[in-house]
Amino acid sequence: MKTAEIKRRFLAHFAANGHTVVPSAALPAIDDPNLLFINAGMVQFVPYFLGQRTPPYPRAVSVQKCIRTPDIDEVGKTSRHGTFFQMNGNFSFGDYFKEGAIPLAWELSTKPVSGGGFGLDGDRIWATVYLDDDEAIEIWHKTVGLPMERIVRRGKRDNYWSMGIPGPAGPCSELYYDRGPDYGPGGGPDVDEDRFLEFWNLVFMQYEIADVKSKEDFRVVRELPKKNIDTGMGLERIASILQGVDNLYEIDEVRPILALAAELTGREYGARSGHVAGESHPDDVRLRVIADHVRTALVLIGDGVTPSNEGRGYVLRRIMRRAVRSIRLLGWQEPALPLLLPVARDCMSPSYPELATDFDRISQYAYAEEDAFLSTLRAGTTILDTAISTARQQGSPTLSGDQAFALHDTYGFPIDLTLEVAAEQGLTVDSEGFRALMADQRARAKADARARKTGHADLSAYRSALDAGGPVEFTGYHEVARESRVRSVLGAGGVALPAAGEGEQIELVLDATPFYAEGGGQQADQGIITVGDGQVEIVDVQQPLPGLIVHKARVVRGEVRAGDTGYAEIDVTRRKAISRSHTATHLVHQTMRNFLGESATQAGSLNAPGRLRFDFNTPGAVPASVLHDVEQQVNEVLLGDLEVHAFITSQEEARRLGAMALFGEKYGDEVRVVEVGDYARELCGGTHVARSGQLGLVKILSEASIGSGVRRVEALVGIDAFGYLAREHLLVSRLAELYRVPNEQVAERVEQTVTQLRDAEKELEKLRAQLVLGGAASLAASAREVGGIAYVGTEAPEGAGGNDVRTLAQEIRGKIDPARPAVVAVAARAGGKASLVVAVNQSARGRGVSASDLVKGALSGRGGGSPDLAQGGGLPASEAPRLLASVEHSLTTA
Ligand code: ATP
Ligand code: MG
Repeated sequence: MKTAEIKRRFLAHFAANGHTVVPSAALPAIDDPNLLFINAGMVQFVPYFLGQRTPPYPRAVSVQKCIRTPDIDEVGKTSRHGTFFQMNGNFSFGDYFKEGAIPLAWELSTKPVSGGGFGLDGDRIWATVYLDDDEAIEIWHKTVGLPMERIVRRGKRDNYWSMGIPGPAGPCSELYYDRGPDYGPGGGPDVDEDRFLEFWNLVFMQYEIADVKSKEDFRVVRELPKKNIDTGMGLERIASILQGVDNLYEIDEVRPILALAAELTGREYGARSGHVAGESHPDDVRLRVIADHVRTALVLIGDGVTPSNEGRGYVLRRIMRRAVRSIRLLGWQEPALPLLLPVARDCMSPSYPELATDFDRISQYAYAEEDAFLSTLRAGTTILDTAISTARQQGSPTLSGDQAFALHDTYGFPIDLTLEVAAEQGLTVDSEGFRALMADQRARAKADARARKTGHADLSAYRSALDAGGPVEFTGYHEVARESRVRSVLGAGGVALPAAGEGEQIELVLDATPFYAEGGGQQADQGIITVGDGQVEIVDVQQPLPGLIVHKARVVRGEVRAGDTGYAEIDVTRRKAISRSHTATHLVHQTMRNFLGESATQAGSLNAPGRLRFDFNTPGAVPASVLHDVEQQVNEVLLGDLEVHAFITSQEEARRLGAMALFGEKYGDEVRVVEVGDYARELCGGTHVARSGQLGLVKILSEASIGSGVRRVEALVGIDAFGYLAREHLLVSRLAELYRVPNEQVAERVEQTVTQLRDAEKELEKLRAQLVLGGAASLAASAREVGGIAYVGTEAPEGAGGNDVRTLAQEIRGKIDPARPAVVAVAARAGGKASLVVAVNQSARGRGVSASDLVKGALSGRGGGSPDLAQGGGLPASEAPRLLASVEHSLTTA
């Protein structure tokens, strides 16, 4: 049964029993400051359980997306833990209690598949209950009919639920499924949690507790007047049971990702492992980690999380990095996500269609993150390997804090990765030392930030240059070139020099300059200064102290002397392109506020030649339609060809005029206001165009989150915007040519093609099934009498999957006259392994024939199922005929 179908049946069962279907909440747990991600179905109902809000319905059912970060380390090593998983749950808010919850769970679990249930063999289900919960035992035993030996009492650690805080709490009861002797020793959940798989937890919120010291130490205050039910059934876990696979990485929603990773890395998954996850070959564990993490990344980005260095974004970054690193360790060095992520999407989109429609956005984040990480890895891995082997040679079990820090600081190599790689090599890392160095670095960071502006941490040389000559006048608002005296020439370390010669890196201070120093998001001017026979190239301009403009330069030829007069000219093309971006930024800012409200204030910006970046505060993503409207309005302002006008005025006056001022900046009494017609008015020291028409065109490229509540748009301006649109147009024309349709019809044609392809795949699937099942009737007719029983033994056609084989056996059985006792055995070979399915009809069962006995007989005790239908496998493929012979033999001797 497909996972999507299990989900559907779960919802349908409880809906039919009076439950309101409630959609899953998104993964980020935004209402709970203590929780990064939703980790259980009940989370969205907490206010109802705590009595803070009145539930709008007495009963609810949901399938909740969950992430459990503590389980990340278990992934692949156990059969039952995913980072992302889905929790089916039914909830009662003061409505039914244990007497309702237990029978409802039992009914769905054991109702035949044909009747809409899961068809589990009730004889293989065990229940655990809390020590003194006799009420629950009574219901399990008397109402449901579960024998006492399959009801297990367990203590607080396993079977008592609370939120770890004063409030509702109570005993719980868990359903376990016995997966048979292949998975471990018998004896119940106390003996083996791998063979006995927990798939459903029923929580009975019965008491109020207080004085909570730990999970097991608290005081029960009273019995709750309104008792609640909260249950959680792991969708993936029940899927692994119903699909007859060993673990939840092998179910239909995950296995294809794993299979592709195995194919890429040339590993035969499972070839070196048995059924028990804990004893698997490390390669198989890695493949499971890859599949789990890729799927988790997909749903996380789908729910709006983006990679970053803190909080939710960091969890995402870590699991993506782990997936990428794992596949590299298996030998795949290329980017893997462009191959794996689409497979994950196809697995998940039947249940979550938005993952398909949103895939462009999701994949952009994912692929960019992988690319960035791969570059980091390339740089860091060599260094780390060297450090590890040096440590080994010196016989030291520890990698020093210095080394870990250098990796982090110089190569951006994440510390958790260093820890992980070191651990794999049997080394520890001096984390104390690492943390101390990190703290030092943070203390230095502020000084560093200043140093970057000045080139030297020591400001005394600048101070004396400023004191000697006073503030430098910036004349670049009105002119692009001027004559000016060289006030000082500074060499390395800020030392004042009388002169500098060809090839030297220097800093120049002029009396007055047309060069704009980087500031207010606007990039610095570049250009040339000619002094006598010397010429210097200006690469950067900074303002290390208010009023002091410093040109960072290289002497291209001749010599420059302090006191000489020179001619300074800026690169006009660059300046114009920067000014266009800056004016465009003001327009985007104002227009965002027009659409999103006054609170959409600027949080940062970059005005570079031909492109701009604008960061602003707003709570959520800006819808595409709004971005489109913003872009349209900005371009309309360009066509209006408004005059851009700058003037100096008092703070009060600027405020009165409604100029936008950036929060947190300090202004003197006099301020400069830049206005674009009557449309935008803002305090600004930057350079701008003369009329808005000069911008030509503004094209917004993207919008994204760069932190909580801060969004970033990037846009192209002028000829760069035009170039971009022209390239896009070319692309569409090329597609139109390939599809032989007019440009407007390209999208439609692509959609058609995709649909056709999907239909063809479905058709293929159907044909394959027909091929397998087509033979059922003639096989049934070929039944032979063996020991008084109609017997069919056959091998399934090549390529038949596990499901096909089971269906084939059942089909054949169905086509034999029910009055005749009949046994059908179908053997199959797949992936180098032989498997066997045996189906027994009612009248044969009446004669005491059991499918599971036959399978166990043929497979020497391995495999299992019900008396009607059983299966097993794991022998070499060549054993297939022997399996059939063995079943036939048992019938003759029976
Ligand atoms: P376990 O002891 O196996 O980790 P749990 O006690 O943490 O399970 P619950 O908190 O009771 O599990 O969650 C309810 C149900 O959710 C479980 O019965 C199980 O089916 C499922 N579940 C819990 N954690 C995971 C996971 N990491 N991956 C998949 N399913 C899970
Ligand atoms: Mg757990």
